[in-house]
Amino acid sequence: MTDKLTLIPLGGMGEIGKNMYVFQYKDDIIVVDAGLKFPEDEMYGIDYVIPNITYLVENQKKVKAIFLTHGHEDHIGALPYVLRQLNVPVYGTRLTLGLLKVKLDEFNIAANLKEIRAGDETNIGGFIIKAIHVNHSIPDCVGFAIKSPIGTIYHSGDFKIDQTPVDGRVTDYYALTQLGNNGVLAFLSDSTNAHRLGYTKSEREVGKTFDEIFARTTGRIILASFASNIHRIQQVFDTALRFKRKVAVVGRSMVNNVKISTELGYLTYPETAYVEIEEINRLSADKVVIITTGSQGEPLSGLTRMASGSHPRISIVPGDTVIFSSTPVPGNEKLVSKVIDGLSKAGANVIYQGIADVHVSGHASREELKLMINMVKPRFMIPFHGEFRHQTAFAQLAEQMGYEENAILCVKNGDVVEFTADSARVTSKVTSGSVLVDGIGVGDVGNVVLRDRQQLAADGVLVAAVTIDRANRKILAGPDLISRGFVYVRESESLLKEATQQVTATLTKAIQESTEWSSLRSAMRESLANFLYEKTRRRPVILPVILELNKD
Ligand SMILES: [Zn+2]
Ligand SMILES: [Zn+2]
Repeated sequence: MTDKLTLIPLGGMGEIGKNMYVFQYKDDIIVVDAGLKFPEDEMYGIDYVIPNITYLVENQKKVKAIFLTHGHEDHIGALPYVLRQLNVPVYGTRLTLGLLKVKLDEFNIAANLKEIRAGDETNIGGFIIKAIHVNHSIPDCVGFAIKSPIGTIYHSGDFKIDQTPVDGRVTDYYALTQLGNNGVLAFLSDSTNAHRLGYTKSEREVGKTFDEIFARTTGRIILASFASNIHRIQQVFDTALRFKRKVAVVGRSMVNNVKISTELGYLTYPETAYVEIEEINRLSADKVVIITTGSQGEPLSGLTRMASGSHPRISIVPGDTVIFSSTPVPGNEKLVSKVIDGLSKAGANVIYQGIADVHVSGHASREELKLMINMVKPRFMIPFHGEFRHQTAFAQLAEQMGYEENAILCVKNGDVVEFTADSARVTSKVTSGSVLVDGIGVGDVGNVVLRDRQQLAADGVLVAAVTIDRANRKILAGPDLISRGFVYVRESESLLKEATQQVTATLTKAIQESTEWSSLRSAMRESLANFLYEKTRRRPVILPVILELNKD
């Protein structure tokens, strides 16, 4: 058997979220990232979706370490769950580990966290892993050059190419070109913006827009952004300082992130630039900036509550200016529009992307991807961090650059990609998929429960309760129909009366044929389902409840 290097994505392929990439050489496995994904609309009641890590649990002894590219939820959010099953060291940069630590403390998990810096090389089994600094929408982000005897794979992390980053730390072009010159077998690339022409704008452009807005605004300024976008928050502090405003922070994740990044030195401002939220009413409106969570219209967030007039401390008044320094993540558009409406009705001047350049993406557009490919000069390419259309757009881009079609692999979660020194192909598949987290339950909600929740949400529930005398094959009481979310009982008396007659008739007949619980129950369910569908074209969840009297 020839030596092989394998890559198995357990999440992040064909989707934006729950990134997790497994690299294996002989008996050594290292994992890059362990992220979560937010549930889709039809996943009622689900808090998070995390990758299925059956493969790693089955190969536990081989798993040597987890490496983190950066501190976003879609890269670190599954760790509290993953570390319960895998006791391995976690490597990451200072800010990434700082953000992770808060999360692990909440879950009461002690982990072996190992800090690395961009430029560091770490030896693990047959691997040497080199961290390379890249720009993104959170500081301290790295890509990983994963070197093995078979060849080097470069995992890009999430990246953009920003020539004027807020902290002055540009992507490490030297390390990347050096890597390219030494030969890269495969390049795993962020493909989020593979469909966008040109270059993604520099983070600093947003600062210029802030300047313009602050210059012409005399009332309060309230700004919502992702809590992890530390450079955005830095620019708010910088601009506020220039315009002699003080900054207050609201929203749990915003308060936490500002605290940690300030402690770790990623966010810098003079103490006088900050004001406690309780103190803002002592300042005049033109001296205040409030940074808040809620840029995605999240129902319980600070901004959403301000928009609905239910925030305990901040009421929107005419003259307020609200800036959405973000764009809605696909799926959140409606929530965000609702919040914008609420704020506007309360009299605020609302500024969002499209009206002004108040947001830039953290992901590379087509020209940046090309630049990266030209630096890294890989033999093979695998686009990740994208839905299938993004992966395809990446493949087309690479082909336009002269790469052969078979040099680009658009793979799926669970695919086993085998590399030799001069080949790459998908050879098999391992267990992968989604594990749903609901409250403290991990994985106990599966497709059956979800289908019930979807049906309950769509058409409600109808309970049919009946008491029978099994020995004498008689109905003693009922059936009584009770419904929630199906029809309004007071206005549907005749429908329910008819339904009762229907199920009584069915049951009277069925009980003569059999007194088995299961057959009685299914007779009731079927008769009600058919009748109600015929009358209403609805399919409520039907729960037959049979009680027995005179039991021995
Ligand atoms: Zn990210
Ligand atoms: Zn990401």
